[in-house]
Amino acid sequence: MSTRLGLFVAIGLALGTAAASAQQAQAPLFATTQVEGTKNVYVFRYQNHQAMFVVTPAGVIVTDPISYGRPQAAEAYLAEVRKISQTPIKFLVYSHHHDDHIAGAKVFKAAGATIIGHKRTKERLTVRRNPDVLPVDQAVGDKHVIKLGGTTLELHYTGRNHSDSSLVMLLPEEKIIFAVDFNALGNVPARLAVNDSYPGEWEASLKRTLALGWERMIPGHPGPGGRLGTKKDMEQQLAFLTDLSAAVKKESDAGRCFTPAETELKLPQYSTMGGYEQNLPWVVHRYCGYWGRGI
Ligand SMILES: [Zn+2]
Repeated sequence: MSTRLGLFVAIGLALGTAAASAQQAQAPLFATTQVEGTKNVYVFRYQNHQAMFVVTPAGVIVTDPISYGRPQAAEAYLAEVRKISQTPIKFLVYSHHHDDHIAGAKVFKAAGATIIGHKRTKERLTVRRNPDVLPVDQAVGDKHVIKLGGTTLELHYTGRNHSDSSLVMLLPEEKIIFAVDFNALGNVPARLAVNDSYPGEWEASLKRTLALGWERMIPGHPGPGGRLGTKKDMEQQLAFLTDLSAAVKKESDAGRCFTPAETELKLPQYSTMGGYEQNLPWVVHRYCGYWGRGI
């Protein structure tokens, strides 16, 4: 999920003042940051999308080319990698099948990368055939381990959540995950985060992800102030979805789905979460579909 609007909403919520928002809006188009405390883990941000890459003596592992609607993003991404390492680009790992994260893989493919994705990503891309989204070369299932130049990157499928193809990328030594779109990091999930989502299974996936050995999470969209996520953030997301689901079920049982539940149901205990007012009706709508229609 992501929209320009989402960017400004997120920034506004994160910083809280118009002046700070204006300052943030002037932030560079893209930036590369080395993750604190690591020797070789980086975050590449382009506008409101970001991806992790890992540099090793034997080659580079990149993730999500994030070039949807802006082919120059992947070119900038590769150029940023090349400022740090001239070793081969060995792998490009897709986080999930949504265009806004994985369009634009051509430059990495041309640089020699093998494209890895979950088997559902491969199936979906094969059906849809968007020319901007390159197919998966190597499909993986529940777990796959990449070892390259002394670094281990584990790919975990923790079930259906925001999509049915999300891979959690875990660096076990560094205790870092790159997880995209299924944990909104302190925010109520936005409309585009719930459009293609799996209520019930989403919560189970969050529990499985929480059980993995990590301490910091790189999100696919910058967190408030650009910070990384924590298990506390993911626990909050799980609690929010669990409580919301129970509340919507009651509304559905009372015949109040989709209306008036969409506009009237509130969860005041979560009102301090980012995007609460504007995003809550969309999440209620999605869970109304689930409890009311089995969608
Ligand atoms: Zn997505």
